[in-house]
Amino acid sequence: MFKVPRELIPWYPTIDEDKCIGCGECFDFCKNGVFEWDEEKNCPKVVNPFNCVVGCSACQNLCPQEALSFPSMKEITQIIKKYHEQQASGQEIDKEVKKN
Ligand code: SF4
Ligand code: SF4
Repeated sequence: MFKVPRELIPWYPTIDEDKCIGCGECFDFCKNGVFEWDEEKNCPKVVNPFNCVVGCSACQNLCPQEALSFPSMKEITQIIKKYHEQQASGQEIDKEVKKN
């Protein structure tokens, strides 16, 4: 089985700062160091996106404001599949692979 480098899988939260009320639920919950707290804006900031566990969306479920979003799993699956195909055929991994 081929392994796709984590850095090539764009799975991590995006924060809508306009919706965020600074409750800290996501920041307190995630133990992977994905977030840092931005004191000035009083909201989390994603500083280590690739520490996020692919497929996890636990912080999104905790957010009372629906301020966190993720790509669709379908999109991610397609990207991984494309990388696997490239690896299987001995091609260089195309870091620009998107959906198709
Ligand atoms: S999805 Fe999971 S691993 Fe990723 S930032 Fe949220 S709680 Fe952390
Ligand atoms: S859980 Fe939502 S509202 Fe609370 S700090 Fe995180 S993003 Fe902001």
